[in-house]
Amino acid sequence: MYQGVPEKQLIEIGNKFLAHPDRVGPDDLPALRRILHYHEWRYYVKNDPVISDYDYDRLYKILQRIESEHPELITPDSPTQRIGSDLSADFKTARHLTPFLSLENSYHPDDLNDFDRQVRKLTGEAGPIEYIVEPKFDGSSLGLLYENNILVRGTTRGNGIEGDDITNNVKTITSLPLRAHFSAKGITKAELRGEGIIRKDNFAQLNRDREQQGLDLFANARNAAAGALRMKDPKETAARKLDCIVYQLTFAEGQNGTGVRRYFDTHGEVLHFLSDIGFLVPHDFIKTCIGIREVIAYCADAEARREAYPYEIDGLVIKVNRLDLQEKCGATAHHPRWAIAFKFKAKQAVTTLEDVQFQVGKLGAITPVGKVTPVELAGVTISSVSLHNEDFIRSKDIRIGDRVIIERAGEVIPYIVKSLPDLRDDHVRPIRFPSECPVCHTPLVKKEGEAVWRCPNYDCPEQVVQRLIHFVSKDAMDIDGMGESQVRKFYQLQWLHDFDDIYKLPYDKIRALDGFGDKSVENLRRAIEASKTNPIYRLLFGLSIPHVGLKAAKTIAAHVGHLRELQQWTIEQFTAIKDVGPIMAQSIHDFFHRPRTDRLLASFEALGVNLKQTDDDRPVVISSGPLAGRTILFTGTLQHMTRTEAQKLAEKAGAQNLSGVSKHLNILVVGEKAGSKLRKARELGTVQIIDEQEFLKLVEAGAGDKPERLR
Ligand code: AMP
Ligand code: ZN
Repeated sequence: MYQGVPEKQLIEIGNKFLAHPDRVGPDDLPALRRILHYHEWRYYVKNDPVISDYDYDRLYKILQRIESEHPELITPDSPTQRIGSDLSADFKTARHLTPFLSLENSYHPDDLNDFDRQVRKLTGEAGPIEYIVEPKFDGSSLGLLYENNILVRGTTRGNGIEGDDITNNVKTITSLPLRAHFSAKGITKAELRGEGIIRKDNFAQLNRDREQQGLDLFANARNAAAGALRMKDPKETAARKLDCIVYQLTFAEGQNGTGVRRYFDTHGEVLHFLSDIGFLVPHDFIKTCIGIREVIAYCADAEARREAYPYEIDGLVIKVNRLDLQEKCGATAHHPRWAIAFKFKAKQAVTTLEDVQFQVGKLGAITPVGKVTPVELAGVTISSVSLHNEDFIRSKDIRIGDRVIIERAGEVIPYIVKSLPDLRDDHVRPIRFPSECPVCHTPLVKKEGEAVWRCPNYDCPEQVVQRLIHFVSKDAMDIDGMGESQVRKFYQLQWLHDFDDIYKLPYDKIRALDGFGDKSVENLRRAIEASKTNPIYRLLFGLSIPHVGLKAAKTIAAHVGHLRELQQWTIEQFTAIKDVGPIMAQSIHDFFHRPRTDRLLASFEALGVNLKQTDDDRPVVISSGPLAGRTILFTGTLQHMTRTEAQKLAEKAGAQNLSGVSKHLNILVVGEKAGSKLRKARELGTVQIIDEQEFLKLVEAGAGDKPERLR
């Protein structure tokens, strides 16, 4: 129930509105407002939304449309008259110095053109407007207050006027300076806005740790960040490794008086200054654009690259660069008129779970895969989703026939975030987990402490096929022209039983198959032959030994002259290698002590598949070279090479690349338009500052030296 109305009813009416937005009229306003309030409450207070952001925005737009047609019907409590509130009873509240507004959302270039037209009208500018386009970080908003260079307060957005005082939690964020040199500009009091956010790699690690501890997984980094900021114990906030990216200075007071404009002319200058005094500000993905056409082109480009960004971003924010023009634009009660968010295609959607199938993995793990009513998600049509494992299904109480929220994060297979039990009818049925393998019917087993059920039959046909697919894949033996469909076909024809059969394929018979020609068979033969000389780490990885990933395979390959030696190794010999733990050691030990591994290795040898350590298996350790033992950093634009090329050259010359200026840095190479890094290095006074030419001379000085290899 939400304020006396069943939630199911609110959701259903909302869906009707969404299905026929044009039929929603002034009479529906009270219902529409109540539905929006309900969803705001689910989102901000319960931290548990039941519709996608996209659908929320569509409902919001319907409300905006009707209200603009009938301004006399606007009520003070309308969702358009305020921003969502995330206030909770657990914290003291604190008043923001300036209203903490939301942003207007747009989904289409047309919206951006409208925005630009309005900006030009409000400012009276005839020529093109200069915009700064930044990533829209998908975390949790933070307000920050600095007095005399000291961080004195951190707050949530709250209701826009006041927020929860979470200073002690905010202080645990390591990328946020507790002391920042605002006085460099004569500023004594500053209010900033930023986003508390967990980097994608830290988030993945966080969930891996939780899985090991048997805790519920976080659905996404935003929930994890929002929750972290509201912990009662700051130590728990710290454990989630948040970053704070600062994107706005909203208030400044000091020697020139009060107002950000008394200290800066543009938003770009502000960001530059904030970066200089130690803040993490939007980086990469940020661009200054002259005129809205450039903005629109950049939006498309950035959306295509969004997965490459180290933080989750759900769009871009377009801001008028000049602060005097920002002032002319002003703000509504809800959002500034000088900025607009361009939202990327939704990564969450609501659909129906139609069926659940059970797949067998290469190590026998049984994974439930949900078949859903096809739905578009971030530009891709989705019909299958991951359901992780039995524990996940049970803890989330997901049933066949349920409406479910699905999400796609990164390039991985989309997964079910949660079901919507409020919308259930009588047709739902529970998901039955099988007790035997759906392929070979062997009874399934589950190890103590593990969440997955496994088929224990090593010869299970699906496991064999999955192992073979893995064996030929890119990071393993890398056999071009052989993938899932070829493996399945050859397996069906009984040409493949174990890995070595790949080197005994009957090419004449393949040539006669549908879909193969002389040329493709010749290419396949060549790729298979070429794989015989692979470094042994590829083979080791390709064998699908439990617990041995690519990194472990490389580590072990670096320590062994010939794979046959592993048949004699003791567990202690394995664990003596750094990074090889007891579980992995036991697993490889067992694998290499099995009689069938002996047969397999003998067969590989007879077929000419390399089992000897190669140069590529030995790590390169450079102890000589012109830059041996020195650290280096590149800044600005280089003329003769890309930054990556330069870093490779430096590495070859024995140097270690650093990512920032610190007292550990020895050499800074400056290209064109070098900025804050150069300044910082100069301030330190201990860094050798050189240009690209000098760098090239340094590197070439030692071009004759050969790197030493480590056995
Ligand atoms: P919304 O959540 O739709 O109300 O959008 C406003 C929120 O976007 C702000 O409160 C910020 O938390 C967030 N945001 C993320 N990145 C930026 C950015 N670069 N500039 C302004 N706001 C941002
Ligand atoms: Zn099986």
